Amino acid sequence: MNQINKDYQRLPGSYLFAEVKRRQEAYEKAHPDQNVIRLGVGDVTLPLAPAVIEALHKAVDEQADASTFKGYAPDHGYDFLREAIQKNDFAARGADVKVDEIVISDGAKSDSSNIQEIFGPDIKIAVGDPVYPVYIDSNIMAGRGGDYNEETGKWSDLVYLSATAENDFKPALPEEPVDLVYLCYPNNPTGTTLNTADLQKWVDWANENDAILIFDSAYESFITEEDVPHSIFELPGSRTCAIEIRSFSKRAGFTGLRLGATIIPQELEIDGVSLLDLWKRRISTKFNGAPYIVQRAGEASYSEEGKAQIEEILAYYRRNAILIKEGLEEAGYEVFGGVNAPYVWLKTPAGMDSWDFFDFLLENAQIVGTPGVGFGPSGAGYFRLTAFNTYEKTAEAVERIKALNK
Ligand SMILES: *Cc1c(COP(=O)(O)O)cnc(C)c1O
Repeated sequence: MNQINKDYQRLPGSYLFAEVKRRQEAYEKAHPDQNVIRLGVGDVTLPLAPAVIEALHKAVDEQADASTFKGYAPDHGYDFLREAIQKNDFAARGADVKVDEIVISDGAKSDSSNIQEIFGPDIKIAVGDPVYPVYIDSNIMAGRGGDYNEETGKWSDLVYLSATAENDFKPALPEEPVDLVYLCYPNNPTGTTLNTADLQKWVDWANENDAILIFDSAYESFITEEDVPHSIFELPGSRTCAIEIRSFSKRAGFTGLRLGATIIPQELEIDGVSLLDLWKRRISTKFNGAPYIVQRAGEASYSEEGKAQIEEILAYYRRNAILIKEGLEEAGYEVFGGVNAPYVWLKTPAGMDSWDFFDFLLENAQIVGTPGVGFGPSGAGYFRLTAFNTYEKTAEAVERIKALNK
């Protein structure tokens, strides 16, 4: 008899963004003359850097000529891109990563959801709380979640690493045995991050406990502070316990183009089996490579011109983040993040839960954000605003929030 994968049915459904959309649309329908500002978007909005566009055009033209035409890309990525990543993202920061350890993909979402496939079905998983939902959902689909408890919002077999203002958004090391830990720094949704000493504790713990860290560095290019690692491979000991997942989406605006990379050190093994070999085996079987034109675009994002143009784009978003952070602080809110990430995380005013505050902000300031509880139980009582709208609209939103207090 035929059967579906029943674990898919266990997923509670993407309630968060659907519910945000429903409430926003209901409000706009009832108040058609109101100008609603969206600070909920987790997608970039500025166009690609000119150097990237130029590389795309050139690569498209190459596809028009038999002598330069490219078919299937190498399974693990073109060397021109892997070398650019190795040089700019690792060697330049003193991180020991070899070209052969960089595996190109179509993005960090695919890699962060697929990486669990190379591990056994019964391993114990720990995730940050609140968290980018992909790490949890991909493990639920693979049957590692146990039972979902509606009341606590937690899966019985997962270990939750709570991050709140009380622990300065630095979750404690797990007390129970854990095999795989997903870390995302700078963090989505809180916009907070770990400094070098904080992350070193995780590396040391993982080495001592035979655990592996999956480090999602999608937001590393937003880092502005000195003592914050851009890659986990900047830290001693990381090569025997860490896998890093990188994305071109937030760094270079590739959310629509699709490009990412996963880095697995050669010496990372379980029972003498190389995880890099397993991951490459998986990629060769299930993926035919990121498009040539997109890999050329990725390469161009590392040219001197490309880097300078991307820095300007990032500066634009950073200015929005600081505007939100400082404006909200001025308005009396308790605010976190925004310094090393395009996200500002705020504590909802006393007596309001995440959804109450969502409605309050929508009805009184016509601003849409994202309720923190949607990212996990420890997000309850928090709210996320993003820096991806225009400067003008962001400034207007901040003025509206300030005016609420008067
Ligand atoms: C946006 C985001 C990603 C997705 O990256 P893609 O490369 O676009 O798939 C991965 N991780 C986190 C934490 C993100 O916020």
